[in-house]
Amino acid sequence: MIERSSVEIAGRMIANAKHAVFFTGAGISAESGIPTFRGEDGLWKKYDPEEVASIWGFRRNPRAFWEFSFALRNKLFAEPNPAHYAIAELEEMGIVKAVITQNIDMLHQRAGSKKVLELHGSMSKLDCLECKKEYDWGDYIEEFNREEVPRCKVCGSWFVKPRVVLFGEPLPRDVLEQAIEESRMADVFVVVGSSLVVYPAAELPYIAKSCGAKMILVNSEPTVADHIFDVKLYGKAGEILPQISKIVKEMKQKS
Ligand code: NAD
Ligand code: ZN
Repeated sequence: MIERSSVEIAGRMIANAKHAVFFTGAGISAESGIPTFRGEDGLWKKYDPEEVASIWGFRRNPRAFWEFSFALRNKLFAEPNPAHYAIAELEEMGIVKAVITQNIDMLHQRAGSKKVLELHGSMSKLDCLECKKEYDWGDYIEEFNREEVPRCKVCGSWFVKPRVVLFGEPLPRDVLEQAIEESRMADVFVVVGSSLVVYPAAELPYIAKSCGAKMILVNSEPTVADHIFDVKLYGKAGEILPQISKIVKEMKQKS
């Protein structure tokens, strides 16, 4: 059980923020039905990340990556949950200035968030690693639905890769730079659903903390970085964030 008072403290911090920034991970989408990587029902219990989610694995055998993606197919078209909507509402109120996400599922945008920094890219674009031709997701949706490994429509190569960051690949530089800047500017920094073990993403909360942000954690279990947080709320994001957004709304109405 989360203590009501801790949720209220977090709500008050966020309501008084001039520049709140959210940082999200796979846990925020768990209640939309997308499995996380680590933890109890994590994907890495079933798949080998070296094989299916690294750039060298992809170069060796793109089929393994695609079969992993086909297995997740239904999950990739999940709907945002109350946690995504609560963050979008806080942005609409002018409190949240940016959402930095490690997720590739685009659920923040679908919930209405405008300023979303996708540290690990998304499935919306694909690139041919051979001839560099760029594609939209829609160009390959039929092949994907038929569970066929996509082949470049220009050069015939099998190395057509969604613009997601695989293990062994650098993060998109401009996005990372903006995320660092937002973390520096944050007066309140809220981490939601991340184990904080994937670098360099996991460095951002430390940057925010060292620049003086008040730190809030919403996660179903403790993380390796719990000591940097002022308020820790252990539980489901889809239950906690709507409560926070309600408190913020009430406080704003009163003032
Ligand atoms: P992670 O899997 O390492 O950690 C997820 C954390 O969320 C865990 O600590 C877990 O306890 C917590 N959690 C689970 N359900 C929750 C809930 N309902 N409410 C609150 N917390 C909950 O995820 P990560 O830190 O994001 O790192 C994994 C990497 O995997 C990232 O790089 C990300 O790109 C990628 N990934 C993305 C998706 C997606 O796009 N939805 C899904 C899986 C993995
Ligand atoms: Zn090509």
